[in-house]
Order: sequence, then structure tokens, then C-alpha cells
Amino acid sequence: MLYLFCGLLGGAILAAICIPLFRKDDTLDSTIIEETEWDLLQRKKEVILGNIQDLDFEYKCGKLSEEDYKKVRGEMSAEAAVVFQEIDGIESSKDLDVLIRREVAARKNKTKPSKIVICQSCGFKNPTTNKFCADCGTKLKQ
Ligand SMILES: [Zn+2]
Repeated sequence: MLYLFCGLLGGAILAAICIPLFRKDDTLDSTIIEETEWDLLQRKKEVILGNIQDLDFEYKCGKLSEEDYKKVRGEMSAEAAVVFQEIDGIESSKDLDVLIRREVAARKNKTKPSKIVICQSCGFKNPTTNKFCADCGTKLKQ
């Protein structure tokens, strides 16, 4: 009876994992939405928690030895702790505007790899293509 139950649940878990995978292929175009660091961390968290649940389940079904279970569980918990910390770090800023600005700045830096030159005289941030400060006209050190 227990084996049947485990088998059924295992099948359900497998289906739950596989069905979204197949569905993703159909709607790939619409799912290409840029993700923020926070989104990625949230997804990572869900995956890790899911893995831990699966592991607990397999251990309860007797598929894993206690030694293996404790070892893998420890590794997963450590991984989860890192992700939680990163999420906390982002969320502790609380101010959503800060998050958005940080994200926008990161994107800008990605699309425009050229660095900036800070004016020695007024502190204005000039693109490296500028020879003179756009704000005060001082000659820039390249
Ligand atoms: Zn200047």
C-alpha cells in the first residue's frame, strides 16, 4: 500500500515537473520576459525548496540511506541559506524605487560597456567619448 502511494505521488511529481517543461516550448516567445535579479532568486528559492521536498519524500519512501539524506539535505540547506540571504539583502532595501533604479543602472551598464569619465573639476559623469566635460568644459583625463 505504501509503495503504491509513493509510486502515485512520484508519478504526480514527475508530471508536475515535466508538463511545464513541455508547455514552455509552445509559448517560448511569450515567456521571453526579462527577469530581474530578484525574480531569478525567487525562482532559485522555489527550485531549491522543491528539491528539498522531493528529497524528504524519497527518504520517507526509503529510497535513500540516512547518511545520503543528511549529506544532501545539508548541502541543499546551505544553498537555500545563501539564496535567502541574497533575497533578504534585496528586500531589506524595501524601497522599490531603489530596486528599480539599481536594475535600470545594471541594464544600462550591460548595454553600454563604455565607461564614464568623472570630471576632475565638477564631478560630472561624462562618456569616454567626451574630450571635455559636458557640464563645465574642463579637459578630461582619459
Ligand atoms: Zn566638469
